[in-house]
Amino acid sequence: MVDLRNQIAIITGAGRGIGFATAKILGGYGATPIICDVLPESELSKTIDHLQSNGIDSFSYRVDVTNKEQIDKMVQDVLERWGHIDILVNNAGLTRDAALLRMKDEDWHLVLNVCLQGTYQCTKSVLKSMVKRRYGRIINISSVVGVIGNAGQVNYSSAKAAIIGFTKSLAREIASRGITVNAIAPGFFDTDMTRNLPEAIKEGWINQIPVGRLGQPEEIAEAVAFLSSQAAAYITGQTLHINGGMVMY
Ligand code: NAD
Repeated sequence: MVDLRNQIAIITGAGRGIGFATAKILGGYGATPIICDVLPESELSKTIDHLQSNGIDSFSYRVDVTNKEQIDKMVQDVLERWGHIDILVNNAGLTRDAALLRMKDEDWHLVLNVCLQGTYQCTKSVLKSMVKRRYGRIINISSVVGVIGNAGQVNYSSAKAAIIGFTKSLAREIASRGITVNAIAPGFFDTDMTRNLPEAIKEGWINQIPVGRLGQPEEIAEAVAFLSSQAAAYITGQTLHINGGMVMY
């Protein structure tokens, strides 16, 4: 059902974690994943080597999603090399947790800038070329905490909630141009973002997850692949909750 041959997919934050798994899975379905991440070039070239050893043609750009100039330059370069961008996965994100009274202003701004402003900026940069071709798939990575909240994460949950509003509004704006816009709200996944948290906290989460474990990055990536496919042409403005049953709507 999923055939992404000849599709160019820009995936932000794809140097590791959910973004990297998405590059691997989309590449496995035939797409050319374009890795966009702030990680050092040495890390990015390891990512590309790993994909190439799995038979996946890919390319990386060291880009900070908060930097409009860098994003526009990457998008222009991708369009010059390949001629089109079919899929954009706005996945780059980070956390800087603290109770509101202790939260540093810079951590509020950083999380909003990377998670929300980055989504806005990357989308704006690719959208013109998608509208011109009357085709596109935009998938924004939100979070369960953008829906249910989480003490200590007012910055992160605000950004992730806003991504859902962004997704719905943009989906309405561009549905008639053959472009779908959807969000995925992961629950708790086993990546660097969660790996270093105390075991007791992770145990607490697992106790709330009916499936009884953290998710694996590939379990988000397969959903991204489906939403990127032709089969998902009639799905837009939706948020897909992938959380092992932790929250049910
Ligand atoms: P991760 O930390 O493993 O990967 C995030 C990637 O984003 C890293 O490679 C990092 O270098 C990159 N990045 C950070 N700031 C960037 C910037 N300014 N410009 C470009 N790249 C940048 O985390 P992950 O768990 O793979 O998270 C991926 C996405 O999934 C994030 O948006 C995160 O908020 C979301 N998410 C994760 C979980 C989870 O449990 N892991 C749950 C819900 C949502």
